[in-house]
Amino acid sequence: MTADPATESGYADHPKRMGFFTDTSICIGCKACEVACKEWNAVPEDGLAFTGMSYDNTQSLSADTWRHVAFVEQPRPLGHQQHGFGDMDFRWLMASDVCKHCTHAACLDVCPTGSLFRTEFGTVVVQDDVCNGCGYCVPACPYGVIGKRESTGVAAKCTLCYDRLGVGQEPACAKSCPTDSIQFGELDELRERAARRLEQVRAAGVDSARLYGHDPDDGVGGTGAFFLLLDEPEVYGLPPDPVVTTRDLPSMWRQAGIAAAVLLAGIAVATWGSRT
Ligand code: SF4
Ligand code: SF4
Repeated sequence: MTADPATESGYADHPKRMGFFTDTSICIGCKACEVACKEWNAVPEDGLAFTGMSYDNTQSLSADTWRHVAFVEQPRPLGHQQHGFGDMDFRWLMASDVCKHCTHAACLDVCPTGSLFRTEFGTVVVQDDVCNGCGYCVPACPYGVIGKRESTGVAAKCTLCYDRLGVGQEPACAKSCPTDSIQFGELDELRERAARRLEQVRAAGVDSARLYGHDPDDGVGGTGAFFLLLDEPEVYGLPPDPVVTTRDLPSMWRQAGIAAAVLLAGIAVATWGSRT
């Protein structure tokens, strides 16, 4: 059972927590998900350029790229591939990355205007007409997902297609994926499906396969978008052990409160002393 951030945010009666399971083992790198996201959400074009390291021409998540498909070439075989057979001695990893819709979302914690909010589906959404462009959320995200759009000066990221969820539709990226690499649904059901898929992939000889973001005890309380990876998270540019960046705020406020109380007591004693 996953955490229930919608209840914690004050929704008394709400739908099940929804999210993504992205199975990178069956991604073919077509980037249909990137295009569908841009089309549905009217996300502006932000230029195409090769990294110089791969055939990836959209490079990373940003305010104008809410789905990003990473391409990673590795000089090693995949699973039970035969060694030394023509050009089969390498594998090409592909993974469609997205906002993680964290259980403990630092972007939401630091937003001073309430532009970022938790939806009834447990996801995290930015309201661009409420954002004041302060940018506090940008360094707060442990995954580097959220950014400030240059053309408008306000923050932008994946909404998990909040408008589509509201009318019972699946997100545009999941709808467009021809291989079902992106699977949308109730998070608890997706986690069971992911565990079964991991067993299959490992049985096929890919010992390095693992789930990423599925653990409710990790540094962000588990994510609403989690992944089956075929290698270490760092290989895909993902942080290996992300931690909610506002984790220490309560103790910092406590320390600040104690310091303020001591200061006020000192002023009171000095004032009283000067009068006697
Ligand atoms: S859920 Fe919607 S907004 Fe988020 S990446 Fe997919 S298409 Fe884009
Ligand atoms: S649409 Fe599906 S298969 Fe194509 S790049 Fe995106 S995740 Fe991969």
